[in-house]
Amino acid sequence: MSSISAGGKVVQLEVEGRERPGHGGIRRVTLIVPVYNEQDSITPFLEKLGGVLDDIHALALVDILFVNDGSRDATERLILAAAADRADISLINLSRNFGKEAALFAGLNHASGDAVIPLDVDLQDPPEVIAEMIRRWIAGAKVVNARRARRDGDSRFKAMSARAFYRVFNAMADQPIPQDVGDFRLLDRTVVDAVCRLGERSRFNKSLFSWVGFEAEEITFDRPARAAGETSWSYWKLWKLALDGIFAASTMPLRIWTYVGILMAMISLVYSAYLLATTLIFGVDVPGYASTVILILVFGGLNMFALGIIGEYVGRIYTEVRQRPLYIVRSHHPAPKAED
Ligand code: UDP
Ligand code: MG
Repeated sequence: MSSISAGGKVVQLEVEGRERPGHGGIRRVTLIVPVYNEQDSITPFLEKLGGVLDDIHALALVDILFVNDGSRDATERLILAAAADRADISLINLSRNFGKEAALFAGLNHASGDAVIPLDVDLQDPPEVIAEMIRRWIAGAKVVNARRARRDGDSRFKAMSARAFYRVFNAMADQPIPQDVGDFRLLDRTVVDAVCRLGERSRFNKSLFSWVGFEAEEITFDRPARAAGETSWSYWKLWKLALDGIFAASTMPLRIWTYVGILMAMISLVYSAYLLATTLIFGVDVPGYASTVILILVFGGLNMFALGIIGEYVGRIYTEVRQRPLYIVRSHHPAPKAED
């Protein structure tokens, strides 16, 4: 991976620097599994995964990287016990609960595979799909998204709010995210490196995965209900995540006020003219009404317009401080050197 910087900022990111596969010709895939208070899920997860590992090993070497996101139950002990007699399980313990997005980012930073697949420990991301993802990857795909065809485990309200979120997000964000694709996907090393180089603090992984680009293939699966334990995502946490996602991916909420302001100013201008005309022609109905309303409308519109202008600048500041690379190079084919 190389990057070109200007004034200390990364403006170009070239990620196609690494030879692959880099382990004596064997491809390696790291499964990143964030866990938070999942003592009931660890064993079923490893058992289920064990059932498909033979299939997968025909394609690539797989290792499992658990990221313990500050669990306060037996999660850590169970993972360490399982890891004791296996060479393919590793564990990162975070110092407290930082949330799934942060845990996943920690996993991306520590994963060593030539490709990674983040998946939930509750078997909602069925391990049976992994082999097909790896097959697509070997065939050349840099990203393989797994789309949920059915959401058995989700309540009607959750499915509906999820759909609404994708719609709103995609209407606002510069780079849309695919509907019903969670974090369960295969990412090639080049993509992981690109995502890890984005230095911003407020991270919404799904949006970063699609922001870095690279063509994605898609496979579908039926999303089962949670196998064990309970989700730790309350609607409040989901709402905060949705807001984080939208505000991190778009400055539209800030900048929209310029246009609302202009619209309001125009409407108030028309209405003011109408008020003025009726007052002049038909006389004063309620003393002070016309002048008061006109003042409120004009200043209201002006205020909103001014806020929009400030929003434009704040939006630009936000874009600048994130310091995202201006573009990412997928591959580079220099002209062959002329030989004489
Ligand atoms: N998780 C985590 N930190 C948290 C919450 C969840 O690492 O603060 C993990 C959790 O252990 C699971 C995955 O993220 O492996 C998805 O969580 P969950 O199944 O509760 O979410 P849902 O499937 O309802 O979206
Ligand atoms: Mg789940």
